[in-house]
Formats: sequence, C-alpha cells, structure tokens
Amino acid sequence: MQFIKLLLISTILVSCNNETNLEPLTIYTSRQPQLIEPLLEEYKEKTGIEVRLLSGKAPQLMERILVEGDKTQADIFMTVDAGVLWQAGEKGIFESVDSLILKRNIPQHLRDPSGKWFGLSKRARTIIYSADSVSSADLSSYEDLAYPLWNNKLCLRTSTKVYSRSLMASMIDSMGYEKTKMIVRGWVNNLATEVFSSDTQVLKAVSAGQCGVTIVNTYYLARLADDPAYSNLRLHWANQENRGTHVNISGAGVTRFSKNKAEAIKLLEWLSSADAQETYAGANKEFPVMPGIKVGKPLESWGPFKEDLISVEKLGSLQKDAVLLAQEVGYK
Ligand code: FE
Repeated sequence: MQFIKLLLISTILVSCNNETNLEPLTIYTSRQPQLIEPLLEEYKEKTGIEVRLLSGKAPQLMERILVEGDKTQADIFMTVDAGVLWQAGEKGIFESVDSLILKRNIPQHLRDPSGKWFGLSKRARTIIYSADSVSSADLSSYEDLAYPLWNNKLCLRTSTKVYSRSLMASMIDSMGYEKTKMIVRGWVNNLATEVFSSDTQVLKAVSAGQCGVTIVNTYYLARLADDPAYSNLRLHWANQENRGTHVNISGAGVTRFSKNKAEAIKLLEWLSSADAQETYAGANKEFPVMPGIKVGKPLESWGPFKEDLISVEKLGSLQKDAVLLAQEVGYK
C-alpha cells in the first residue's frame, strides 16, 4: 500500500513537472536586444516559454552557429537585411520550414522561396533631402540622382554596408548590370564629400548643409524626427513612377540544429501575427510585413508609398554583383 502511495505521488509530481517544464528557446541575433525583449516577455506570459537572446554581430553569430553545430543553443537566427539572411541560408544555417501561418502572414516576396527565412519587418531605403536647398519637385528616382543637377550635392553611405549593396542589387535586377553601373558612376561623380560610415552621420551632413540629398533607411530619419535640430530633413518616396521604393527586411529562420523546431516555428508564427507585428516593427520604427497593421507617428506622416516588389531573396543572390559594380566605379 505504502509503495502504491509513493508511486502515485511520484506520478503526480512527474505530470506536474511536464506541464511546467517548458523548454526555453534561444535566439542568436544581431538586432539590438532591447528592441525585442518586451515582445519576448509578452510571449513568455502567453505561453510560459522563456526566450533567451544571445546578441552579437551577424557574421560572428553565423560562424558560431556553424562551429557549435549540433551543440548550439540557437533555435532561431534573427538578423537584418535580405543579403545577410541569404548568406546564412547559403551557409546551411537554416532548416526549411513549411508553415501555412507564415505563408499567410508574410507576403511571398518578403520570405525565402524554400522557407529558410522569413521577413518580420520591412525597411524602406529612400531619398532624404534638405528643405533648405532642395525642392521635392526636383526629385524622382534613385537613378535621377546620377544627373549633373546633383553635382556636389549628393552624400552617400559607404558601399561596403549591406544596405547599399542590397539597393544596388535591386537596381541590377530591374535595369541590368551595365545601366546600374552607369548610374552608380553618376552618383560617385556627384558626391559632395567622402562616403559616410552610418546612415545617421549622412543625415546629419544633409541637415548641416554639407550636401542636399542622400539615400537612407527611413527608421534613421524617424529617430531624428522629434529633434528640432533636424527639422529641415524631408523624405521623398523614390521611384513612385516605376518599380517603387526599395524595401528590405529584418527577418529570422529556424536553425538546422535546433532541438525544439516545433516551438521555434510557433515563435516565428507569433512574431508574424497581428498581435506582435505592430510592436515588432514599431520598436525600431520599421514597417510591419503584415498588410493593414498600424504604423506609428512619423511613419504615418510620410504617407503611403509604392514598394518595389522584387523578391528580397534576389537582393541576396545579387550581392556579389553589387560588390563588383561598386569596385568598378570607385564607390568606396
Ligand atoms: Fe540599420
């Protein structure tokens, strides 16, 4: 009798334990942890699943996942730019995921065709100008910035940044290598100063009058929007008359080595859901990938825009061409 009683108690203990012992998930990410931590707290409250973050720079994290192999804690790799996600896919970091929820929530051109990675927010890279010296009527497309009208008026971020490469990749896809080369050569000829190492620096140069116009990711402008020192900066949606403004993504995929793939997929599905999209995209002043989700104040004030619908996977596969092109025309 005593034995049966003991057995019963231990069975109850084990079953209780099963209910609460939810395996934590780990995300290796190059995103700033403070941007995603509040969402992951919310996920824990909803599901009981703790999500741990290991942050670092994307190349190092990719290397680490490959070196750790089967022993890695990484269930998910989360980063920015289709170029980087594509690289991670090529390196064999991701498992292909087939999820109806992810397919339904995320437009087709914003995810990998084989399900290795999924866009979770959109990052538009467009023309920003100084209202002190430039009129919006003179602006149209990325291509037009190669005209002599912009001589000594253009500032650019370095071509070594993946953002610049992805923009050039989208141009190569749309116009071909040779035409893009002509345009980028025109940009280089129009530069007012050396290239900059960050989007914020280049925005400050435009605001200070060092140049009149540049191309940056809009969330950098949004971060300066409340500062009266930069009130002369204006946004122009590029290429509205043809293919639309260049759009990149932040995104994530389930690693090939994850021991908890089913739960990792559920977390990605939740991040793509209406519940999470506003917060996920809003944290960095990016745009939600799910259509119809509300955007915050400065973004709303820029109005709707036509987006380039190129499959972002192509932005990855054309990176090498973009690097070569920049070298050929001396875009540093
Ligand atoms: Fe950025």
